[in-house]
Amino acid sequence: MSTTYEVLAIRYGTRPTTRAQTFLNHHVYREPDTPIDLDFFLWVARNDERTVVIDTGYTAASAVNRMPRLELADPIGTLAELGVKPEASPQVIITHAHYDHLGNLDAFPSSEVVLARAEYDFWTGPYATRPQFACTTEEVELAHLRQVAAEGRITFVERSTQVAPGVEVIPVGGHTPGQLVVRVATATGHAVLASDAAHFYEEVELDRPFTYITDLEDTYRAYELLREMTAEPGEVLVAGHDRDVMRRFPPLPGAGDQVVRIG
Ligand SMILES: [Zn+2]
Repeated sequence: MSTTYEVLAIRYGTRPTTRAQTFLNHHVYREPDTPIDLDFFLWVARNDERTVVIDTGYTAASAVNRMPRLELADPIGTLAELGVKPEASPQVIITHAHYDHLGNLDAFPSSEVVLARAEYDFWTGPYATRPQFACTTEEVELAHLRQVAAEGRITFVERSTQVAPGVEVIPVGGHTPGQLVVRVATATGHAVLASDAAHFYEEVELDRPFTYITDLEDTYRAYELLREMTAEPGEVLVAGHDRDVMRRFPPLPGAGDQVVRIG
C-alpha cells in the first residue's frame, strides 16, 4: 500500500528585486544586472488521513520593517480557505527559522513541529544575534520556538527522516545550518520541496548560490542533491521563492490564482 499526497504551493507575497541583490557575488558571472521577482510561498501536503503544513509564512508585523513587499494573501487565512484547520493539529514542518518561514507558527498551538536539530541549536546559540544573521529572523518568533521546544512539541531531525508515511525531510544546510528539503510522495512521483535550499530554479540549473547563506560548500552540495533527487521522470523540483512555480504547475481548481497543485 502506498501513501501519496496532494501537494499545494501557496503564493502569499512578492517583492521585486534584481539578480545582483539575489545571487552571491553576482559580478563574478560578468552579466548585466536584471530584474527578478522574489515570491513568498508556503506548502501543504494532504490526503484523506493527514495534513502536513510546510512552513508558516511571514507575519504582517515582521514584513513592516523589511524591504518593500506586496502581501497577496494572509498565509493562515489562505490555509483556512483550503480547509486546513490549526485546531486539527496538522503536523508542521519548519524548513528553517527565517522570518518568512517561521512566522505564524503560533497559529498552530497544538501541532507537532518538525525542525532540524542544527537549526534550533544555531538560532538559540551565540551567533544568532550577529546582525548578518539576526536580520533574517524575528526575536519574538525564536522565543516562541524555544517555548514550543519546552512544551515538547518539536521533533528534532539530524539526518534524512521519514516524518510521516510518504514524507521525508532531508537536512542539507547551506542557506541556514539546518535547512530542510522535503520530499513528498504524490500520485505521479515525488515533489521535492526545496524551500530555500533553492530559492530560484536558476540556482540549481546554473549552480549559482543565493546571496544569504551560512555555508557555501553545503549550498553547492544541496544543489547537487536537488539535481539528483529530480533526475527521474515524475520527480519535480519546487523552488522556494520562484515565480516560475506558478507557471510550472496548474492552479488548484476553485482556489483563486495564488495556489498551484503539484502531483
Ligand atoms: Zn525564504
